[in-house]
Amino acid sequence: MDNKGSRRPIEDDLMGAALGPESDRVGADLHAFVTDLYPICRSITGNGLRETLHRIGDRIPLEIHEVPSGTEVLDWTVPREWNIRDAYIKDPTGRRVVDFREHNLHVVSYSVPVDATMPLSELRGHVHTLPDQPGLIPYRTSYYSESWGFCMSEDRFRQLPEGDYEVRIDSSLEPGSLTYGECLLPGATDEEVLISCHCCHPSLANDNLSGIAVATELARRLGATSRRYSYRFLFIPGTIGSITWLARNEDRVDRIRHGLVVTGVGGPGAPVYKRSRRGDAVIDRAVATVLRHRGGPYRIVDFSPYGYDERQYCSPGFDLPVGSLTGTPNGEYPEYHTSADDLEFVRSERLVESLELYLEVFDVLERDRVYRNLRPKGEPQLGKRGLYPSVGAQGAGAQVMAMLWTLNLSDGDHSLLDIAERAGVPFREIADAAARLVDGELLAPDST
Ligand code: ZN
Repeated sequence: MDNKGSRRPIEDDLMGAALGPESDRVGADLHAFVTDLYPICRSITGNGLRETLHRIGDRIPLEIHEVPSGTEVLDWTVPREWNIRDAYIKDPTGRRVVDFREHNLHVVSYSVPVDATMPLSELRGHVHTLPDQPGLIPYRTSYYSESWGFCMSEDRFRQLPEGDYEVRIDSSLEPGSLTYGECLLPGATDEEVLISCHCCHPSLANDNLSGIAVATELARRLGATSRRYSYRFLFIPGTIGSITWLARNEDRVDRIRHGLVVTGVGGPGAPVYKRSRRGDAVIDRAVATVLRHRGGPYRIVDFSPYGYDERQYCSPGFDLPVGSLTGTPNGEYPEYHTSADDLEFVRSERLVESLELYLEVFDVLERDRVYRNLRPKGEPQLGKRGLYPSVGAQGAGAQVMAMLWTLNLSDGDHSLLDIAERAGVPFREIADAAARLVDGELLAPDST
């Protein structure tokens, strides 16, 4: 094929491209980052969260905010800061039968300090297990009610003999601050795409670290391209972090045009997209069209006021166009919130697939716009402008159809996404057709 359009390396747009030969290296790097962050004991405040943000900041430009305990944020209050150094349960012989240093899930997050000796019968009231998954340690938190507790496997708990146990949690819950990280990549416009990811879980690899790794890599890649939108990445503790950010940025949320909550993107299971509260926002349609044409299974579910931070962004007073693109959602896989959500559960291939999926969605957002057919009376003659692919060229039929659809619907009322949906073809084909038609002077961006 020899036409003007083909001379432009449309297909080389960094963002929409599959990673190709790079993918093994990128997958290994993403998994290495998850591995690096895994041992840190994070919570919704404290030094583990800070350390995590600093490591993200080693990879991308990250502004770190500290919001003092006691600050009123919407209907909430920033809690006291929690830090932990050590915790254990010693059996009657003085042996550590539960040891925070072995696994940070052993301590209920936000446990107040304790230093006591008590019989097994009393200790039992402070121990959480999973009787249905007796080999696993559960993940438990107690952010907003003062208490303490341990988590352990049911199997291990059953082996504990009667007697007096020494329990100690060397933690502190004191005025301090809530920490979050923000990375803004300015684009040609100040209209924003929001990418939000929670980073408050301790050693849980898929629920938390996979999202951090993929979001960090997205920011790194987007930072290296020219962008129409500005991209704002938030690395925040779940719930209280998004509430805090919304409270401090109420006057600028109207810049957010599209948004996604990133988490659970490293485990098995097909992609699941949870729509924004609006249900028909451009982000909802962009993700749907990408998933539809990608091949392979996926699910799209309606918004519900549960899950991750989308429930704050989509609260009625904000109602932002923010959906959530994940693997199998929270609560729907047996490893969720247990010690089985570990480094083996997260696969580097899945991290790469998720990265590619997000990049493809951003490609739609970046390239979607409204054009106008400059020769709308009758079909313009493609051949004399070198736009007609040579007979038998691979994909020639599809290429022509994409151009015909784009010409027909580019009346100033339909965006490229509208056209892709109506034509039932991948967005990229429509966007590439539009680029060719612009080169052929048959199409121009709509200025109205
Ligand atoms: Zn979680």
